[in-house]
Amino acid sequence: MVRMRHKRAYRYRFYPTLEQAAALARTFGCVRYVYNWALRLRTDAYHGRQERIGYHEASAALKTLKQQPETAWLNAVSSVPLQQALRHLDSAFRNFFARRAKYPTFKKKRGRQAATYATSAFRWDVQMRTLTLAKMDAPLDIHWSRSFSGTPSTVTVSRDPAGRYFVSFLVEEDVEALRVVPAMVGVDVGLKDMAVLSTGEKIANPAHLRRSERKLAHAQRALARKTLGSKNREKARLKVARAYAKIADQRADGLHKLTTRLIRENQVICVESLAVKNLMRNHALAKAISDVGWGELVRQLEYKGDWYRRALVKIDRWYPSTNRCHVCGHILDSLPLNMRQWTCPVCGVWHDRDINAAKNILAVGLTVNACGEAVRPGRAMPNPARPDEAGIPQI
Ligand SMILES: [Zn+2]
Repeated sequence: MVRMRHKRAYRYRFYPTLEQAAALARTFGCVRYVYNWALRLRTDAYHGRQERIGYHEASAALKTLKQQPETAWLNAVSSVPLQQALRHLDSAFRNFFARRAKYPTFKKKRGRQAATYATSAFRWDVQMRTLTLAKMDAPLDIHWSRSFSGTPSTVTVSRDPAGRYFVSFLVEEDVEALRVVPAMVGVDVGLKDMAVLSTGEKIANPAHLRRSERKLAHAQRALARKTLGSKNREKARLKVARAYAKIADQRADGLHKLTTRLIRENQVICVESLAVKNLMRNHALAKAISDVGWGELVRQLEYKGDWYRRALVKIDRWYPSTNRCHVCGHILDSLPLNMRQWTCPVCGVWHDRDINAAKNILAVGLTVNACGEAVRPGRAMPNPARPDEAGIPQI
């Protein structure tokens, strides 16, 4: 069996003491401040003087900033997460210049807060499995939901808008490639179902997701009725954040189950490489697609395919997978979005819209694969939504 080393992130919930929560709040605040300060510095330099400020220049400027009396409070927290903030910003800029992400934006107090510690700023006790961060006396109270081997190179602590704390360990691990299987599958990412397979199977969105979505809608309506700046509004805002976090978790959970299964059962997986960015401009479609998490599905298939040596073939968008009859190849002029079934006017075969599309995706994917264009498993793309964990799969 082939074994390969991969970077992997393991995420756990933890429960800080009041003291730790206060120390983290300070650190998050300083990290956010430094990130936003450096973003402004780089933006001004670029627009004002057409000058590019890199990580090293920003780092030198940070040193000066910490010596100023009005920003001396930055010295109250560990310097490592502040340096890491500059690195995150640097990779956000690199993603921007490589056209993989939008221009970096300022971090907001309301959003997800995070701080990354490199080895010099945390103590990891392998035997006791305890993690102690710089400037803290006691280890974090981590709830171990799964185990990992290997030594963490960085740890990222975060607090989501729902007020939950997470710690993410980045470790290098050996991953064993899976045994070769003779199966191949085409996957159509539907708007109605989570996915439709060329085998004819439809994978529905989990039912509990619908329930959670109704709860979220309810919480959002309640929030809209509250007066700005009131205590009740803050409570309602937290309720919305919690409902939202739950949906995000359930969705990610469903996607992980699906992608793991697809990777285990198939040697070659064909998907349409929808230009999501373009589709996002169409508003009605945008909601549906972001709901289904198309980008996340492909991202997971990419890195899992990379780990387990499976091939992911992405089909160009111009291929008429939906309105082409997979039996005789006849192409319809148009097929309205609401037509879920159709009958081919040439060969007379009845088609389920999505299953027919999945079969076409498989067929064209195999042609591409045979030509050797995409036999190599795709590389994981950085997730622009979280530049601090760019490209590192979350499991
Ligand atoms: Zn036909």
